[in-house]
Amino acid sequence: MDEVDLLYQEMILDHNKNPRNFGELEDATHKAVGHNPLCGDHIEIFLKVKDGKVEDVKFKGVGCAISKASASIMTTVLKGKTLDEVKNLFEKFHNVITSKPDEPVNTEELGKLAVFAGVREFPVRVKCATLAWHTLIEAIEKKDSVLTVE
Ligand code: ZN
Repeated sequence: MDEVDLLYQEMILDHNKNPRNFGELEDATHKAVGHNPLCGDHIEIFLKVKDGKVEDVKFKGVGCAISKASASIMTTVLKGKTLDEVKNLFEKFHNVITSKPDEPVNTEELGKLAVFAGVREFPVRVKCATLAWHTLIEAIEKKDSVLTVE
């Protein structure tokens, strides 16, 4: 498969075109801004945490299809999860996406996020796919902050 086939799968195209949970969350308890200067991606994450669980999450920003789709898909899998579950999921996602292309991976536990597994063949794109997640974790850890991935 070439890069276009691998990266621009239907779900990615759909979320890029019609991002879910796009906009600001007025009563956010956590938020952070993330930049990926390599590609020009800029994403802002708004998170509302109640009783240790994600009650709501939204994002806004501009960027390439991968970064936007990743943020959009991320917001659809977080609701109801505890912060530990969120960090756990990010770790699994990160492990798959930064693994070597010939390394066997278990994408089953990733659910929808498995659509990004092909990104690992294109290291430059890994930052696009993980920007929203890094920004989310930054929001959880530090509350209000600005993050730049290098
Ligand atoms: Zn990008």
